[in-house]
Parts: sequence; structure tokens; C-alpha cells
Amino acid sequence: MAEFTMELNDEQKEVRDWLHGFAADVIRPAAAEWDEREETPWPVIQEAAKVGIYSLDFYAQQYFDSTGLGIPMAMEELFWGDAGIALSIVGTGLAAVGVLANGTEEQIGTWIPQMYGDANDVKVAAFCSSEPDAGSDVASMRTRAVYDEAKDEWVLNGTKTWATNGGIANVHVVVAVVDTELGSKGHASFIVPPNTPGLSQGQKFKKHGIRASHTAEVVLENVRIPGSCLLGGKEKLDERLARARERAKAGGERVKNAAMATFEASRPAVGAMAVGTARAAYEVALDYAKTREQFGRPIIDNQGVAFQLADMRTSIDAARLLVWRASWMAVNGKPFTAAEGSMSKLFASETAKKVTAQAIQILGGNGYTREYPVERMHRDAAIYTIFEGTSEVQRLVIARTLSGMPIR
Ligand SMILES: Cc1cc2nc3c(=O)[nH]c(=O)nc-3n(C[C@H](O)[C@H](O)[C@H](O)COP(=O)(O)OP(=O)(O)OC[C@H]3O[C@@H](n4cnc5c(N)ncnc54)[C@H](O)[C@@H]3O)c2cc1C
Repeated sequence: MAEFTMELNDEQKEVRDWLHGFAADVIRPAAAEWDEREETPWPVIQEAAKVGIYSLDFYAQQYFDSTGLGIPMAMEELFWGDAGIALSIVGTGLAAVGVLANGTEEQIGTWIPQMYGDANDVKVAAFCSSEPDAGSDVASMRTRAVYDEAKDEWVLNGTKTWATNGGIANVHVVVAVVDTELGSKGHASFIVPPNTPGLSQGQKFKKHGIRASHTAEVVLENVRIPGSCLLGGKEKLDERLARARERAKAGGERVKNAAMATFEASRPAVGAMAVGTARAAYEVALDYAKTREQFGRPIIDNQGVAFQLADMRTSIDAARLLVWRASWMAVNGKPFTAAEGSMSKLFASETAKKVTAQAIQILGGNGYTREYPVERMHRDAAIYTIFEGTSEVQRLVIARTLSGMPIR
């Protein structure tokens, strides 16, 4: 087990500087354009693929870094560049993790490369869980997967919504109900291969922020996929369902929810994205406060401004500490006895919202215009308290973990 450390090693510092260079030279200069266009920034993804940032190898290297700092460091730097573009670059990783976590070796080897494509023909992937009536309340999911034993095929029907890269993805990972009696324990994840008939993009959403990232509905109408596309395989699913039915019969004994543990491990990465956006806005505000003069002196000479910057930086550093701690715990298999993963996501995302709003205030009229990036950063920051579990859901999870009680 790696000791927890706040110090990046030489190799990590090199990677961080390389990512920072890409974020500063390629992502940030393109941010305003793609925000206005509200389209997937394919040329930037291609550029990321060419240098090796958009690739399974790079993602896996950070994911398996035993210090736990690889992923949060990478997320912070890319999202420092721009949240919408960075999400277009890392969105595929979210689907890939779904396969890494639940798939067999064969499934991992077959599908993850198809999620990324290659530098000359980049592809993206989508993870589709949320539905119009099942956001926070995942157990209300309605998309059904029915097994056709004669053909060894699964048939998927339903509508997914708010899917990042939904409809434009080469590979979709879809969560669906296989047993309607078992709530969220009756769900399973499926690969929908490229060009499968019956899968189509529904509405593409126009958004408040992260507008360079594509968000859309995914409609599934009699989508037939081979039995081998069930992540983890049929035998494992049957065993899991049998165990869940036994427990339900025995009076619903409370069991540790595996999905919960997965979320605890993935949420710090979203916290790190938020830290990146917050740090970007703070840096713009600090520079501005040192150079903007009113009443014959830089505005930072006023305690009212300087103290805001002090608070902003303190919150950002505190958020990063929580994120790094939770990431280290996840990689080293430490139990999340106080929902430390949710804590890190809650604090970092609320910090990003607050810090980006403070940055607009410090830039005054300029901060409110699209001539300066903090206006966009503030719009972008609003997503962090919503996706991968809202702030209220994080509080619910933390409270339930602390008390050991179901909190409604
Ligand atoms: C840009 C974007 C990208 C996304 N990408 C993906 C993706 O790639 N894949 C995917 O599957 N999903 C994705 N989502 C969906 C996202 O995860 C959901 O929006 C989120 O889980 C919240 O669900 P909801 O929108 O239905 O809100 P609701 O669950 O309807 O919540 C509405 C409000 O009620 C509050 N609330 C709900 N229940 C409680 C409670 N018990 N106690 C207190 N407050 C409560 C919430 O906190 C929130 O403030 C994305 C969403 C967006 C906006």
C-alpha cells in the first residue's frame, strides 16, 4: 500500500507539467469558441489523441497509480484549461471505467479500444444510466433488458437522458433493469456496439455551461445485442440476482451496495474537475486584482478584495486535500467509513460554484462579460453540484454512512 503523500513524485510532476502545457496551449485558447458553438470539439480531441492524452494507455496509467494522485492531478489540469472541452476528452473514460469495473478481460480487450478509436480516427463513448424519471432515484429506472434465450441475445427498450456523448458515441454502455422486483440490485450494464439498429439520439440539450460537451437523450427501441455484451457475463449476473433474491426473501437484510462503493471511488475524480475550474477562476481573479486600479491603487489593496482571495485559495486547497485523500483511499482499498469520496465531491463542487462567483465579483463589469473567462467558468461550475450525484445526494450518503441509518 502506498503511503498517503501530498508530494507528487518526479514522474508525476513531469506528467502534470505536460498536461498543464496542453491545457494552457491547446485547451484554454479554444475554450470560448467551442462554448459558443456548443459542439463537440473534435479537433481538440484529435490533438489530445495525437499527443497521447486521449488514450486508454494514458487513462489506465493514471487510474492504476498506487499513490491515487494520478487521476485527480490529470483532471485538475485538464479542467483548469476548460471544463467543457476537458469533459469531451475524459467523458469516454467514464464509460471505460464502467467496463473496467464490471467487464471480463475479453470485454475490456474488445470494447475499450473501440471506445477511443485511434489518433487518425478518434471515437468517443457514452455511459447511459439516468432517465427522465430516474436521476437521483436510480431505483426508478425503467429501461428493460430481456434475455432471448433462443438467440442468446438481450433486447433493450427505454429512453436514457443527459448522456454525455449520447448518440455520437461509437460504444454506449447502458444500464438497464433485468429484474423488476429487486430495485437497483436488479440492474445490469450492457455494451451496445457501434451501429446497432434501434439505438438513436433523441434531443440534444442546449446547456447553461460545459457547452462544448455533448449531452443528449439516447432512445433504445428493440435494440438486440449479443449475449456476450452483458458486462461480467450471464453466469455472474445469475449468481448475483440469486443472492439478491435470497436476501430479499430473508427480510431485506441490509447489504453493502457495490454500486455505492464504486461511486465513493469515482466521485473524487469529479471533485478534482471542480478544483481545476475553481483554481482557474481564482488565478484570473488574483491577476486582475493585482493590476486593476481604482481610487489610485490596485483593488487587491482593499481588504474586502484581498480577504475574498484568501478565502478562495483556502477553500481550493482544502478541496484538493479532500480529493487526494479520497483518491488515495480508493486506490489502496481503504473502506469509506465516513463516505470520504462523497465528502470530497460535495466540498469541491460547492467550492467551485462559490469561487467562480467570487471571481466574477472581483472582475466587476468585466467579470460579467464574455470578454473574460470567469463568466464561462461560473456557468461551467454549476454542473459539479449536479452530475455524479447532486450535493443533496452527497449529504444524504454522508449522513447515512455516519449514522448507519436509512435517511429519507
Ligand atoms: C451536463 C450533464 C451531463 C450528464 N452526464 C450524464 C451521463 O453521462 N450519464 C448519466 O447517466 N447521467 C448523466 N447526467 C445526469 C445526472 O447524473 C443527473 O442529472 C443527476 O443525477 C441528478 O438527477 P436529476 O437531474 O434527475 O435530478 P433529481 O433527482 O430530479 O433532483 C432534483 C433536485 O432534487 C434534489 N433531491 C432529489 N432527491 C432528494 C432527496 N432524497 N433529498 C434531498 N434532495 C433531493 C436534488 O438534489 C436536486 O436538487 C448528466 C447531467 C447533466 C446535466
